[in-house]
Amino acid sequence: MNPPADQVTVPIPGQLIVEGISKRFKTSRSEVHALDDVSLHVKPGEFICLVGPSGCGKSTLLDIIAGLTKPDSGSVSADGQPVVGPGRHRLVMFQESALFPWLTVFGNVMFGLKLRADLNNAERHEIANSHLALVGLQKFARSNVHELSGGMKQRVALARSLAPDPRILLMDEPLAALDAMTREQLYSDVQEIWQSRKKTIVLVTHNVREAVCLGDRVILLSPRPGSIRETFPIDLPRPRDINSPELARHAAEITAALKNYLTMDVPD
Ligand code: ADP
Ligand code: MG
Repeated sequence: MNPPADQVTVPIPGQLIVEGISKRFKTSRSEVHALDDVSLHVKPGEFICLVGPSGCGKSTLLDIIAGLTKPDSGSVSADGQPVVGPGRHRLVMFQESALFPWLTVFGNVMFGLKLRADLNNAERHEIANSHLALVGLQKFARSNVHELSGGMKQRVALARSLAPDPRILLMDEPLAALDAMTREQLYSDVQEIWQSRKKTIVLVTHNVREAVCLGDRVILLSPRPGSIRETFPIDLPRPRDINSPELARHAAEITAALKNYLTMDVPD
């Protein structure tokens, strides 16, 4: 017998549904309530920015979506399928580039491609090269990671997470450690890559202007335990300039809302 129509899961590539996620971390001496009843529906190809103060559970939420951490309650489905563990179509790019220092730039991008068992080595080489070109680093393919600037390392990390062609890219404060000028260049690059590659992206940040520059929607999380407080659709045309007055107006509105929720410093 077929299941009732409302119970049929239709695979929708790039769709992400987070439903009622709560999470506590228990140690022998204490308990931290990290997330409380977080629900989020992300459309295929949508760029979502989650903004919240340090310690509100942003990384925990991304880890749960990635399938690296189990929630206490609630569920995540990606591409119309329940998330039960990590998968090639949900990759995380971290703040401090988690590159392997003993591998070259090319070796790091190739490492990400180990996830693609369907490709032979020649195909992996070609994809690695094309992704280094995408982030403007083809000339540095043979360089060691320690020879690169912070911005270049994050470009390699971006190439490494995009090369396996995940449908959903999860970015955990990927630009936070960079200086302002390098960050501004990467805002342009990330917008261009997102528009050409049509990935679903969930990016967490504590930088409101960054969120307005990149997101279709900016979602505010409360201090711990993190829960969703407010959603701001951003309808500014792209590519967006982080220094434009219009962007600053949106950011000021969101910052004012954040200040209402917070009793702590709001960056930018
Ligand atoms: P954010 O990324 O927003 O700064 P996190 O998700 O890293 O916040 O952490 C949320 C809270 O959960 C923090 O208080 C943190 O110390 C705690 N936490 C995160 N991971 C663990 C863990 N594995 N064990 C215990 N506590 C944790
Ligand atoms: Mg974090």
